[in-house]
Order: sequence, then C-alpha cells, then structure tokens
Amino acid sequence: TAHIVIIGAGQAGVQTAEALRAGGFAGAITLLGDEPHGPYHRPPLSKAWLAGDIGAEQLVMRAPEALARKNIALRTHTQVNAIDRAARQVKLADGSALSYSGLVLATGSTPRRLPLPGGDAKGVLALRSRMDASAIAERMAMCIEQQLPVVVIGGGFIGLEVAATARKKGLRVTVLEAAPRLLGRVLAPLLSDWYAQLHRSHGVNLVLGAQITALEADRQGTVSGVRMADGTLHPAALVVVGIGVSANEQLARDAGLACERGIVVDACGRTSDPVIVAAGDCAARRLPDGSLLRLESVQNAIEQGKSVAAALLGQERPFTATPWFWSDQYDKKLQMAGLSGGADQWAVRGDMDSGSFSVYHLRAGQLLAVDSVNASRDHLQARKLLDAGVSPTPAQVGDAAFDLGTLLL
Ligand code: FAD
Repeated sequence: TAHIVIIGAGQAGVQTAEALRAGGFAGAITLLGDEPHGPYHRPPLSKAWLAGDIGAEQLVMRAPEALARKNIALRTHTQVNAIDRAARQVKLADGSALSYSGLVLATGSTPRRLPLPGGDAKGVLALRSRMDASAIAERMAMCIEQQLPVVVIGGGFIGLEVAATARKKGLRVTVLEAAPRLLGRVLAPLLSDWYAQLHRSHGVNLVLGAQITALEADRQGTVSGVRMADGTLHPAALVVVGIGVSANEQLARDAGLACERGIVVDACGRTSDPVIVAAGDCAARRLPDGSLLRLESVQNAIEQGKSVAAALLGQERPFTATPWFWSDQYDKKLQMAGLSGGADQWAVRGDMDSGSFSVYHLRAGQLLAVDSVNASRDHLQARKLLDAGVSPTPAQVGDAAFDLGTLLL
C-alpha cells in the first residue's frame, strides 16, 4: 500500500505533505519530527519572537488539527535512527519500524559548533530550534536584569539579527566577525559597509577581522568572556554563536545515498534511490555545470517541497524560480533576489543615506542578483527581471527617473 514517510516536520516536510495531497495522493502520509513542537516558523526566532513582539502562538506554521484534516499523520518526539533501503523501512528511536513506498528526507541543518577551547561552556548558545531560542531569551532576560554584556560570534544573518534584537532590548552587544566585512559571501562590499555602519550607529561594538582564541568560563563553568588573539577580553554572560550550519545528511549517508555537503539531488529533488527524495536545508542540488547548490531559506524549502511531491507522483517540477531571502535588522528589511556569487560590477538605485535603496549585482553585464533595503517594490520587480533574464545597464539602474519595468514590456 502507498505510504509516504517524511523525516523532518519543518518547512520542507510540511510543504511536501500538503503538496502530495494537493497533487491528488490518496495513500497514507506520515510526518515524523524529533522536536517536541509541531511545525513552526523559524525566522521569527531571531526577530519578532526574540524581541517579544509576537507570542508563541504566532510561531505555529500548521496546527496538528489542520494536518489531521488533510489526513497527514504528524508524530512529534519521534526520531528516525536509520533507513533500511532494501526493506524500505525507517527505524525509529523507540525500536519500531515503519514501512514506506516513498521516503522524503527533510531533516534540515544543524548549527556549526565553535571549534575553540571553552566553546561548550554554559551560556554559549546556538540558534536553530524553539528550544534554542527559549534558552537564549532566558539568558538575555538575566543579562538585562543584571546588566551583563552579550557577545555574538559570527556576523551572518542570524548573528546580526540577534545582535539587533539584543540592542532593541537595551543590552550591551559585541559582534565578532572573522572576515574583514559582514556577510561577505552574499553582499556587495558597499552593502557590507552599510550594514557595519547600521549596527555601529545602533551601538553595537562591531569587531571585523576578529581572531578569537578561547572562550573563558568562571568556576561554575559558565561563560565569562571571549579572549582574542591580541589578548583583549570581551566580557560576556551570553555568547550566541552564528557561524553557519551543516546539512543533516547522516541518515542518508549511512544508507549509502550520495552526499556532498548535503544530500545530493537533481533539480526535482530526487536522490540516487528512485523512491527517496530530499528537500530544504539538507539537500544539495546538482546544477547543469556539475556544481552543487545548497540554499538555506524558507522559499527554497517550499519550492523543493513542491518539487519532491511532484517527483513522488511521477511528475517533473524542477525548482527554477529565482531564489529569494529576507532579513530584518532594526527597522530595515533586506530582501535579496537571485544569487550574487561571481559578480564583477555593482550599481545602486536610490540613496543609501536615505535607508531605502537597492544594490544590483552584475557579471559581464548580466544581472545576477538584487539586494533591496526597505525597497520592496525594487525587490518584486527584480524577481521579475531575473525570472525573465532581463538585465538593466548600470546607468539605467542609477537613473531613478528610468522605470526598469519598461524593460519587461
Ligand atoms: P527545518 O525547518 O530545520 O526542519 C527540519 C526538521 O527535521 C527539524 O525539526 C529537525 O529537528 C527534524 N529532524 C532532523 N533529523 C531528524 C530525524 N532523524 N528524525 C526526525 N526528525 C528529524 N529563512 C529565510 O528565508 N528568511 C529568514 O529570515 C530566515 N531566518 C531564520 C532565522 C533563524 C533563527 C533560523 C534558525 C533560520 C532562518 N531561516 C530563514 C532559514 C529557514 O528557517 C530554513 O531554511 C528552513 O526552516 C528550512 O526548512 P527545512 O524543512 O529544510 O528544515
């Protein structure tokens, strides 16, 4: 009998289950998640939820009843320990097994740990799950009460969002970034500089090119500060580590599926096993040029979820839309469309000093990506330009009087 088992009850897992039903799949669907919570939204964990602007009920992505109505069986607290491909079964932590006719790997990713002495001291926390976020919120509350400082290690999106939220709450915050600029792999240099300035203007002590040697702890094993190569100590009662994630691929690897910094899939999310697909943060898509692309975003999880559901129903639905992403820091909403790697030229639309503008990334005259700050109209238009493969010239980008939309006509 047809039974699709989905490992991971996050964004990609839920999307896949619902897309299977929308696509007419009438067999059984079981959604397995190892967390205590049903499906929830992760993005607010570093933003509105951590700031206290929204409550726990607003994190809920799908209530269990909503899934039940679609005849999707959700099991929380349920960890899959192994996949037996020959028997087409998954082995659960409680020793039981579940048979599948199709299997979806939607296991997400895990924050990288700090490979430094003291990196496991109490109060050194990463942010991925609701439990992680609660632990950070609790410690932040203590830091507020006792006026203790916070250090964020890593100037990526999660680190910077946590720093912005901590500043909003009035905490003393230091951000330590090893690279010479913020978000160096995704932003144009001028936008990295703009974000550095934004955080400094909000009172963040931002250290670029930071060389950390160790985390120091008190006698109870609680973190007390971050020691730098030059001897400086940044005192901290809470250290939030945001130095990237790695794909949760161990299950797939143990089952003999191809993995390379992620579970290797084609444009439709198929693995090397015809009845196993993978979607979301855990999946690394093989591109036509042979390289691998692994994205960590809500849109990617949703689109890949739709693709793998279609693949299991025997249809081709490659994910071809322009990738997009957002990040909220202070009162600034960054919206990114496209992938900017390899850009050799940048053009700005709008006035960076005004706080509302967009940066266009080009390579050999071709538009690769657009990063918009408080400029949603530019962002939506950029997705259309990128979908259509239409490139404005740098002069057209810089000319506010020129309507880029006319290029789409
Ligand atoms: P997940 O949502 O992580 O779901 C995977 C689930 O599988 C997890 O619940 C995990 O516990 C479970 N699991 C793993 N292994 C097993 C197993 N063996 N058995 C059972 N269950 C298992 N993206 C954006 O686009 N914009 C943002 O602004 C943004 N902000 C973010 C802020 C934070 C703090 C975080 C953490 C992420 C943010 N993201 C953002 C990224 C986005 O949330 C992820 O890309 C998205 O959640 C990926 O979905 P997924 O289903 O692949 O993984």
